[in-house]
Amino acid sequence: MDLRQYVEIVDNYPKEGIRFKDITPLMNDGEAYRTAVNEIVKYAKEKEIDIIVGPEARGFIIGCPVSYSLGIGFAPVRKEGKLPREVIKVDYGLEYGSNVLTIHKDAIKPGQRVLITDDLLATGGTIEATIKLVEELGGVVAGCAFLIELGYLDGMEKLKDYDVFTLMKYE
Ligand code: IMP
Repeated sequence: MDLRQYVEIVDNYPKEGIRFKDITPLMNDGEAYRTAVNEIVKYAKEKEIDIIVGPEARGFIIGCPVSYSLGIGFAPVRKEGKLPREVIKVDYGLEYGSNVLTIHKDAIKPGQRVLITDDLLATGGTIEATIKLVEELGGVVAGCAFLIELGYLDGMEKLKDYDVFTLMKYE
C-alpha cells in the first residue's frame, strides 16, 4: 500500500514558506491508518519495547494504537501546564516557534525500553527534547518511529546515536 497518497501537502501552513504534511487523510482511511500502525508495531516488537512515549498531539495518534496493539503502556509528553501531577520539563525549539515539554515524573521506570513516536521528524527538536525527558527518568530510548521524515531538515543528524524507523521520506 502506498501511504504517500494519504498525505496532503499544504503550502504556507502554518506560516509562509512551510510545506505542511497533513496526515489526517491517512488517519481518515481505516486501512491506511492500520497499515501504518502495524508497521510500527512490528518495529516495536523487534526492539522489545516496554513502553511508548509520544509528544502531543500527533505523537498520541501514532503511539496509542501501537501501545494498545502490544498491550504495553503509553506515557504522554505534553506542553507545560497540561499534566496534573509532578513533572520534569525541558525547553525546545520547533520548526516554527519554541516551547516547553513535560512528562510525569513517575511515567517511566529506570531501565524500561522506550519507543518514542510522532507523526513527523522535521528539525528533530521535539524528539530531542522528548529523549531528554525519557533519559532523565532513566528510560532507555530503544527506538524512535515516525510516519514521515523530512530529509531536507537535519532531524536525522540529531538522532544519529539512536535507532530510527520512518515510513515515508520527503526530500
Ligand atoms: P521538529 O521538532 O522540528 O522535528 O518538528 C516536529 C514536530 O512538529 C512534530 O510534532 C510534528 O507534529 C510537527 N510538524 C512539523 N512540521 C510538520 C508538518 O509538515 N506536518 C505535520 N507536523 C509537523
